[in-house]
Amino acid sequence: MHNDKITISTHQLFAMFPDQEKARTYLESRLWPKGVRCPICGLGERITVRESGFYRCNQCKEDFTVRTGTIFERSHVPLHKWLYAMYLLVTSRKGISSLQLSKEIGITQKSAWFGQQARIAKVEGGARCRGKSRRPRDARARGPHRRPAGRGR
Ligand SMILES: [Zn+2]
Repeated sequence: MHNDKITISTHQLFAMFPDQEKARTYLESRLWPKGVRCPICGLGERITVRESGFYRCNQCKEDFTVRTGTIFERSHVPLHKWLYAMYLLVTSRKGISSLQLSKEIGITQKSAWFGQQARIAKVEGGARCRGKSRRPRDARARGPHRRPAGRGR
């Protein structure tokens, strides 16, 4: 876990992800290294690329973005701010290597996202937080409609 000691500064982070668009592009490249894939059916053959960051799976007839199926899905916070928030959470304890950072934000599995979330909760709360971390409401997270039902977050 300590094979890369290079840490990145806040300044560097901002330089890497100055805006939502850059963050999105980066996350997409991490999430879909081999091309866009539908988070619902997992296929990448029948994807229609729409305007910046929106895709449609012609198999499922579902629209999706890089957020779909992740903890970001129900959030309206721009992705680069999310990245920054995660950066802060992680660095607040013991710093983070660039390698680690790329891992933190490049996880492809939904479950991994939730695991990550639990880890962040742990960092936040210090020590153990069994049962305190938010539950992975998986079924709910990938309902057919993508719009958060005005529930705030
Ligand atoms: Zn699909």
